[in-house]
Amino acid sequence: MKRVTVLGATGSIGRSTLDVMARHSGRYELYAATAHSNLDELLSICIKHRPKFAILATDAGAADFKQRLRDAGLSTEVRVGVEAMCEASSAKDVDVVVAAIVGAAGLTPTLAAVNSGKRILLANKEALVMTGGLFMDAVRKHGAELLPIDSEHNAIYQCLPEAAQRLNDSASLAAHGVTRVLLTASGGPFRHFSREQLQQVTPVQACKHPNWSMGRKISVDSASLMNKGLELIEACWLFDLAPGSVQVHLHPESIIHSMVEYVDGSILAQMGNPDMRTPIAYGLAWPERVDAGVEPLDLFSIGKLHFEKPDKERFPCLRLAEEAFALGGTAPAVVNAANEVAVDAFLQGGIRFVDIPVVIEKSLLKGSIVRADSVETVIEADRVARQYASEAINELAGGVVIP
Ligand code: NAD
Ligand code: MG
Repeated sequence: MKRVTVLGATGSIGRSTLDVMARHSGRYELYAATAHSNLDELLSICIKHRPKFAILATDAGAADFKQRLRDAGLSTEVRVGVEAMCEASSAKDVDVVVAAIVGAAGLTPTLAAVNSGKRILLANKEALVMTGGLFMDAVRKHGAELLPIDSEHNAIYQCLPEAAQRLNDSASLAAHGVTRVLLTASGGPFRHFSREQLQQVTPVQACKHPNWSMGRKISVDSASLMNKGLELIEACWLFDLAPGSVQVHLHPESIIHSMVEYVDGSILAQMGNPDMRTPIAYGLAWPERVDAGVEPLDLFSIGKLHFEKPDKERFPCLRLAEEAFALGGTAPAVVNAANEVAVDAFLQGGIRFVDIPVVIEKSLLKGSIVRADSVETVIEADRVARQYASEAINELAGGVVIP
């Protein structure tokens, strides 16, 4: 029996994880579940999965939540705050940590799992983008087993020989005959929108992803291609690749989740219906395979697969992420933080969709980029970038409110 902590249990990835776990209740047991504000859903999770701990991000509603657990006859203990999340990620009794908190808020509890050498199913790409080399050094130092469950990175992982899958090993992928990684992207809901059309898009449109059902922040990131920018950085760190050997391919059907090219001319692709339960089941059971509850792929009904080059002019977020990675140091953390603030402002109707890259670029130019020599340095860069991003939002013509 593997004991699992799910960080961000009430989110899209959290729900998919619990679904897979419930299909294999003889193999996986929920140790701790964390949530930010959806306490109704956390309660349902506790009733169904009976974890040892339920962890709330803040103490808002904690007393009432404890009472509701008691009323339901549950012995789940309630804890509050980041420290409690770190304990749930590093506890001796825990085997697997699913890192599915959205954004920089997931960094500290994810690192706690890394530093305790757990198997980590990484969805929270922002944590890796922010701390890059520090994160990967900690994986190697503590012998953590890092399994990417971002669908593209999971696909790449699946297309590697087992010897190359040990991400805490130092051998480069080139030594295994890998020449390039082809990172696929759906292109999001605005793939064919003109610049003029992009000026008018609303949060509701941005969150309506054509193929995937996801949280709001990552949905906007997919629409702006910032998600692909973050994923490019994620791929470089995970697989120790230079950015030049990762090529983004728009693939609107989202059937091929990414590909690996080898020196002999072969390209291996991982395919499947766009359902996060596939990479999650893979990460939970690796190196075995278990049923994920995912519909088998019917290629006859899909018929054709298409590929296009991304347009970094209409979607400057991809370019900004590339530039930040090239700058190095704290630049990716700055871009990530400014993006989080800008996406939040867009979702609240404070800025336009096309203002997101403007806010990020201003924040990147304003701050000084330093060497990311400690997690504290990165967290400070994140804090300052949020300040700059808020200032940039205020400067933007007082904000254009979208109806
Ligand atoms: P979501 O918004 O559906 O869920 C986010 C989770 O994080 C929730 O459980 C919420 O309670 C928690 N959370 C939010 N703010 C918090 C805070 N300040 N402190 C503690 N917890 C907090 O998001 P999601 O779509 O599940 O995405 C989660 C992560 O997985 C993101 O990093 C995203 O990029 C990544 N990811 C998601 C998908 C997907 O299909 N949804 C695919 C690949 C990667
Ligand atoms: Mg992805």
